[in-house]
Amino acid sequence: MSAVAGHVIGGRVESPQGCAVIEVVNPADGAVVGAVVSGDAGDVDRAVAAARAALPGWAAAPMEERIRIVEALAAGLDEHRERLAATLTAEMGTPIAFARAAQVGVAIADLRQLIAAAREHVSAEAVSNSLVVTEPVGVVAAITPWNFPLHQIMLKLGGALLAGCTVVLKPSEVAPLNAVIVAEILDAIGLPAGVVDVVFGDGPAVGEPLAAHPDVDMVTFTGSRAVGERIARAASATVTRVALELGGKSAAVILDDAPLEASVAGVLASCFANAGQTCAALTRALVPETIKSRWEDAAVAAAQTWMPGDPRDEDTRMGPLASAAQHSRVVAHITRAQEEGARLLVGGTQALEIGEAYVRPTIFTDVDPDMALFRDEVFGPVLAITGYRTIDEAVALANDSDYGLSGGVWSADEVRALEIALRLRTGTVGINGAGLDVGAPFGGYKQSGLGREAGRLGFEEFLEVKSVMGAAHLVKTS
Ligand code: NAD
Repeated sequence: MSAVAGHVIGGRVESPQGCAVIEVVNPADGAVVGAVVSGDAGDVDRAVAAARAALPGWAAAPMEERIRIVEALAAGLDEHRERLAATLTAEMGTPIAFARAAQVGVAIADLRQLIAAAREHVSAEAVSNSLVVTEPVGVVAAITPWNFPLHQIMLKLGGALLAGCTVVLKPSEVAPLNAVIVAEILDAIGLPAGVVDVVFGDGPAVGEPLAAHPDVDMVTFTGSRAVGERIARAASATVTRVALELGGKSAAVILDDAPLEASVAGVLASCFANAGQTCAALTRALVPETIKSRWEDAAVAAAQTWMPGDPRDEDTRMGPLASAAQHSRVVAHITRAQEEGARLLVGGTQALEIGEAYVRPTIFTDVDPDMALFRDEVFGPVLAITGYRTIDEAVALANDSDYGLSGGVWSADEVRALEIALRLRTGTVGINGAGLDVGAPFGGYKQSGLGREAGRLGFEEFLEVKSVMGAAHLVKTS
């Protein structure tokens, strides 16, 4: 096993000696691929104090300096792309080609789009009789999950750093090793000590005290709905600002004129990429009854191209689930769907020879709104097909969810697709397979979250706004 990574507090990598340790397990073969210390509330206190101490200096740094650092961070990710991709593949099983292009590639794109937003930001303007200025919100606690770990860290770090905030990061205990590399890069590019502090550990021991910490000004969290609710509750004791990116049960609305093969391929790619562990995955396909059986046949055929393989293999499209625990959860969802009467078209719970954490690409049809599979996030490669008769019924089915993260519409007529997209109660919608756009806001309606990440709004989440009344005439116009 490689060395145990220690917390990074006040610009110093702390010795892990004598500390409890969390081992990081490769889900493809069960091997231990690294370890991090398992922190506690005392570590959180020290990290928050370091971030607080670093705040005045960083908040006062000119925007050009903050941009220089975040540009250097993006360049550092690019330089370490192979190492980061291999680390992500080892710690959470995402296929290597996908890790390189999507996991690391999107993280770099996140930073570049945030930099573009920061460049355009106007930090002082006359509004009515006032001078309106923006200021950094302060010390930010960033708590992140394991499914796109680097991307989720960069959306938070990039926005916060550009806004002039300091950050205490608690990466997922399932996939923390990419964050160890990020801390190395931040040190190498000369980020001042304490501006980003990293505390490793699990949710109850580190996440909870961090979310409840009275000296934290904002908590930005990505993860499950259940934990998001706990975090909002913890932060509410001090009326601390929260941004929540939570789960989803997103629907793809297939219109009757949609190209069959392209719509099937697009929905499966969204549902099965990253072994289905994508918050915005299209996991419900709403299909007109008139074409449903043809669509099902095409989906079953296309599912074969998603059979899982070794994530280190360049040709693998789907690897194992990220952990044994996630595998058990997904198998339980499939079993329940069968018990509730959903019709299994392909896949299921039968084990695969390749390893214990793998699940077959699975498709159910005749999934009714009263079944758990229609409502609950599975976070695995499981698609639910539901037939519909009218467009109004399709829109009602799509919106019949506690979540509102994403959606998709397929049609030969883009204007018709747009009309439907505008009726979906979700934070993002893709037309004919258009995927994540990190230049545009990303976030959820309803129980999928609060606030937006990425691009201009993702940057502005980390700002406070002050109106200096009677000072409009003092705005510099140069
Ligand atoms: P999770 O909620 O279990 O954990 C996320 C993070 O919260 C981890 O760092 C964890 O240690 C921490 N945590 C756990 N309990 C905590 C507590 N009581 N207090 C504070 N922190 C705590 O989620 P996960 O299993 O890592 O990730 C999967 C979930 O994340 C899915 O539900 C998925 O939809 C969601 N997700 C959402 C988005 C989005 O942008 N909307 C993106 C990715 C993942």
